[in-house]
Amino acid sequence: MFTTPFLDLPPLLSATGTVQLPGSKSISNRVLLLAGLSSGTTVVHALLDSDDTQVMLAALRQLGCAVDTDGSTVRITGLGGRLDVREASLFLGNAGTAMRPLTAALAVLAATQGGNFELKGVPRMHERPIGDLVDALRQLGCGIDYLANNGYPPLRLGSGTLNTRAPIRVRGDVSSQFLTALLLALPLVSGDNAVIIEVVGELISKPYIEITLNLLARFGIRVQREGWQRFVIPQGSAYRTPGDIHVEADASSASYFIALGAIAAQGGQSIRIEGVGSDSIQGDIRFVDAARAMGADITGGPGWLEVKRGQWPLKAIELDCNHIPDAAMTLAVMALYAQGTTRLTDIASWRVKETDRITAMAIELRKLGAQVTEGADFIEVTPPADWRAAAIHTYDDHRIAMCFSLAAFNPPGRPVRILDPRCVGKTFPDYFEALFSVAQTRTEHIPVITIDGPTASGKGTLASAVAQQLGYHFLDSGALYRATALAAMRAGIPETDEAGLARTAAALQLRFADQHIWLDGEEVSDQLRREDVGAMASKVSVWPAVRAALLELQLAHRRLPGLVADGRDMGTVIFPGANLKVFVLASAAVRAERRHKQLISKGISSNIDSLRADLEMRDARDQSRSVSPLKPAEDAMVLDNSALTVDQCVAVVLDWWQHRQPFG
Ligand code: C5P
Repeated sequence: MFTTPFLDLPPLLSATGTVQLPGSKSISNRVLLLAGLSSGTTVVHALLDSDDTQVMLAALRQLGCAVDTDGSTVRITGLGGRLDVREASLFLGNAGTAMRPLTAALAVLAATQGGNFELKGVPRMHERPIGDLVDALRQLGCGIDYLANNGYPPLRLGSGTLNTRAPIRVRGDVSSQFLTALLLALPLVSGDNAVIIEVVGELISKPYIEITLNLLARFGIRVQREGWQRFVIPQGSAYRTPGDIHVEADASSASYFIALGAIAAQGGQSIRIEGVGSDSIQGDIRFVDAARAMGADITGGPGWLEVKRGQWPLKAIELDCNHIPDAAMTLAVMALYAQGTTRLTDIASWRVKETDRITAMAIELRKLGAQVTEGADFIEVTPPADWRAAAIHTYDDHRIAMCFSLAAFNPPGRPVRILDPRCVGKTFPDYFEALFSVAQTRTEHIPVITIDGPTASGKGTLASAVAQQLGYHFLDSGALYRATALAAMRAGIPETDEAGLARTAAALQLRFADQHIWLDGEEVSDQLRREDVGAMASKVSVWPAVRAALLELQLAHRRLPGLVADGRDMGTVIFPGANLKVFVLASAAVRAERRHKQLISKGISSNIDSLRADLEMRDARDQSRSVSPLKPAEDAMVLDNSALTVDQCVAVVLDWWQHRQPFG
């Protein structure tokens, strides 16, 4: 997951390949609650691991359910409808799919068995309405207090006296999650008589109710439905665990890759989506029809979809999106690539989601140059005449972050910045990794920052910190020379055998992960830092054949979304066209002192004067050699870090980088 303050997407050109999607949020959280209310143990497979499921799991644990996690499989032993813990304060983040159903379930349990529960979330959660659900539960006799503002969390649930004989009326036109919450909770109190729920107003997002009914049936509750107005929970309904249950991949998440195929899988390429297909129980699968209407070429079967670009440019459409509220946001971004104006209607529910999505989409689409008209319950999008680079604000809304990534395919090649990319953690923590695994661009579009400088100047630490701040890949080219040196020392190849050393370099089996390096399957990160290995590296690296042998390996690190490359010839020889070149300087005295401290911290004794003499000798050799001598590139920014901390250096480099970006 990208946890950086922003993620810059370079211009993207095309897309091809297969993506495996994470489990559906809606299904995951319903299944977790049902498993928590059932008696017996439920094994949930392919559960989504996200912010929203984490808060639900934490809440179930707090309530006394036994929860064992093993990768994406979770074993839950439920309460069997009996409260184990009678007092708790639950923090539910920004997860509507946890707040609403837990409110309903705990309210009826507290009223019938005694209890005192506080439910709260992040500030945005306290702006998301829950009044219609609370009204319905109060009619039933539940004791519920608002702890801040009427109609909104946080809430306190306490004692009450229930009357389950009269039908419970709930509004259906603000959020279908209120009805879902009642459907999930009221089997708890159906012991004496059937419980009837009546929907007031036109029910929105019906497909989500179908998911709820479908999953209730898997847990032994057969709700009788009369149209979309009246739902009857039969007397004596009791949750029974199905034993094992598999979570379908998220159909709303599929929308980004369906759109990706429609926009960018061209010339025989295609995007294959695994985990959700034409047999899906999720309403958002009908996004497929909407995408087809815009021109996508889509085929599918059980558990899979395959998408190609069909008509191009896409066709503008006018569509009532009541049935696909979440996936419809993706249509608004596809509209950027359509001919004409796309009009999405009946989307009032957007205004009460993670953020006011109609306003947010309008503001951000306009930043790209699109013409947008918004109304109380519709949005109209006309593609930009003139695309602009834009920094997209994401409002802690995963869907805004994901759908706007598709703007990076804009024809003039304007980069797109996604602010706070970590918000995708709500439903799809590795969304951007999945996107980069199938998106393609021209190599020269992938940004490179080079950080060169003499040995022990701190360039490695700086480069890796800058890479981390930007979410870019990191190339420690010195490690390649060190690995060649280590491999040569082990094989007994002398420093004078240019051909032998070059063969060693070409045959290196290296793996990089999380700042660690493996050579032939063995972790060698510490060995590579040894002084004798460094000294050998400095000798090995003078040979042109060795440098040539390592060239391809270095170039291959230039991958989406970008690269920070550290090493003495990065800006001069390997990436001469780098977007920013930094040359780090520090006096030999300062470097010797730093190296000395570093060695002490590792328990290795050393002598400052000899370290300094050694560094000066190595500088002289690196500067005077005929191939790739150590010198700043002509267009390099020189950073003397003798008196700066690492954080200060990082700030300087990031500032230089920001000034070269078109985001203002
Ligand atoms: O940067 P580091 O000290 O790890 O590099 C080890 C040796 O590899 C250096 O002394 C230098 O001679 C060589 N090297 C090189 N070109 C690079 C990186 C390192 O010649 N791009």
